[in-house]
Amino acid sequence: MDLDTSSSPVPSSSLLPQRCGRSDELEEACDETAPRPWSVSRNVPSGLLEKLVYDALVWCSLHGLVVGDKDIQRSGTDPGIGLVHAPFSLLPMPFPKRHWRQACEVAPIFNELVDHVSLDGKFLQDSLSRTKEVDAFTSRLLDIHSKMLELNKREDIRLGLHRSDYMLDAEANLLFQIELNTISSSFSGLSCLVSELHRNLINHYGKDLELDSRRVPGNTVVSRYAEALAKAWNEYNNSSAVVMVVVQTEERNMYDQHWLCTRLREIHGVASVRKTLAEIDAEGQVLPDGTLLVGGQTVAVVYFRAGYSPNDYPSESEWSARLLMEQSNAIKCPSISYHLVGTKKIQQELAKPNVLERFLENEDDIAKLRKCFAGLWSLENADAVKSAIERPEFFVLKPQREGGGNNIYGDNIRETLIRLQQEGSEQAAAYILMQRIFPKASLAYLVRKGICHQDHAISELGIYGAYLRNKDKVIMNDQCGYLMRTKDSSSNEGGVAAGFAVLDSIYLT
Ligand code: ADP
Ligand code: MG
Repeated sequence: MDLDTSSSPVPSSSLLPQRCGRSDELEEACDETAPRPWSVSRNVPSGLLEKLVYDALVWCSLHGLVVGDKDIQRSGTDPGIGLVHAPFSLLPMPFPKRHWRQACEVAPIFNELVDHVSLDGKFLQDSLSRTKEVDAFTSRLLDIHSKMLELNKREDIRLGLHRSDYMLDAEANLLFQIELNTISSSFSGLSCLVSELHRNLINHYGKDLELDSRRVPGNTVVSRYAEALAKAWNEYNNSSAVVMVVVQTEERNMYDQHWLCTRLREIHGVASVRKTLAEIDAEGQVLPDGTLLVGGQTVAVVYFRAGYSPNDYPSESEWSARLLMEQSNAIKCPSISYHLVGTKKIQQELAKPNVLERFLENEDDIAKLRKCFAGLWSLENADAVKSAIERPEFFVLKPQREGGGNNIYGDNIRETLIRLQQEGSEQAAAYILMQRIFPKASLAYLVRKGICHQDHAISELGIYGAYLRNKDKVIMNDQCGYLMRTKDSSSNEGGVAAGFAVLDSIYLT
């Protein structure tokens, strides 16, 4: 439902999120023959719990399920210093097979959508034009995009490593997309390890736990992403060129990135280098034929694990590095246009009636995507704003930011919206409103810094997708694996790196 295009006044109650599922779905949920969901609500007996936690912590240390420890200063810059296990859930979260399949099935369609939308420069510029006026970061990205349009720059080889995130709304029993990440989709390395950890624990203790490890789907995203990068590198067709990973100056999630680069080197023989935006500015140049050289090395693929947040651009140097890379003929993952397609404003525009139809032809595909769109509104929609002021608990207010910790919830939504109204402020264009999704809470064991605590928890499922094309030839368009993140049900935000959630896997029911 989107009312931005509706001319008739709509009673505010109709804007409140739909809380009931389609009848066939409800019937299916009540089907007596459907497999009974495994319940984590049971307590694991304390003796067994201690063994599980101990074994899990050993496993993480031996298998590289690790991050840098915030308490140790050098852990964000120097590999091998100050490692701590990544926060994880002790046992996988139950998830219905039907919704899992649904999320996997739409991944290639979302990949295709991103590619098609990216080619419509006018749609991107027009949709973001009001946001541009009030959001300096989006404005800088759009300036780079405009320059590329002026130059008539074509990206023949296009690589997307996306992750579409979902929550399963308990009452509606529907899977809703939270957002589509087109830049720096993290945890391809560590998420595979969590699935392995859970399978390992269940193989050892499954009898006591009454669990079957075959119900934890295998997760090969790190290999598939390495394959996608290698195939892109291959299309670039220069055996001495490297993949350049654009990194933040401090990165406590570096092992996740190293897993991917290690696979790339060991399986495909492709070398990678890590560079910050400031280093790229200092060492980079574009030759007249478009070749990107950084520190004297030719770059075939630029893989961004930084550059999605204003904090990544503390000075003009970082912006000139971004522009330099965009002007080159290196394959950008993502290009500036892929990056813009992943903004929250574009997500909201794509959810408007008849917009998907501009970019996709197949009606079934369109219906599948639309089915997982939650309510999304711009703040130009007076009815949506009114509803959100009346019942803020049913909404999330989102600025154009990535990386967690930026969204506004509850009474703060009301305050912010009233303030924006009183100021008659153009600032409203910096936000979108989204229907709040309420996943079912289950008891879970969350392990952080070696300490396990049991809590009511909710989960967010991310499905990784890879897309590679060279001109008209689509070389790869696949669903590649998954990320489950679980957090205390009382926490609004969801990022693992931001400290809200833990890494998890799924137990199909
Ligand atoms: P970011 O780019 O910061 O990751 P997200 O849109 O993914 O932004 O929001 C961050 C977190 O906020 C999500 O991981 C999720 O936990 C929570 N969240 C976002 N949108 C919703 C929603 N519509 N309903 C419930 N929770 C949400
Ligand atoms: Mg997110």
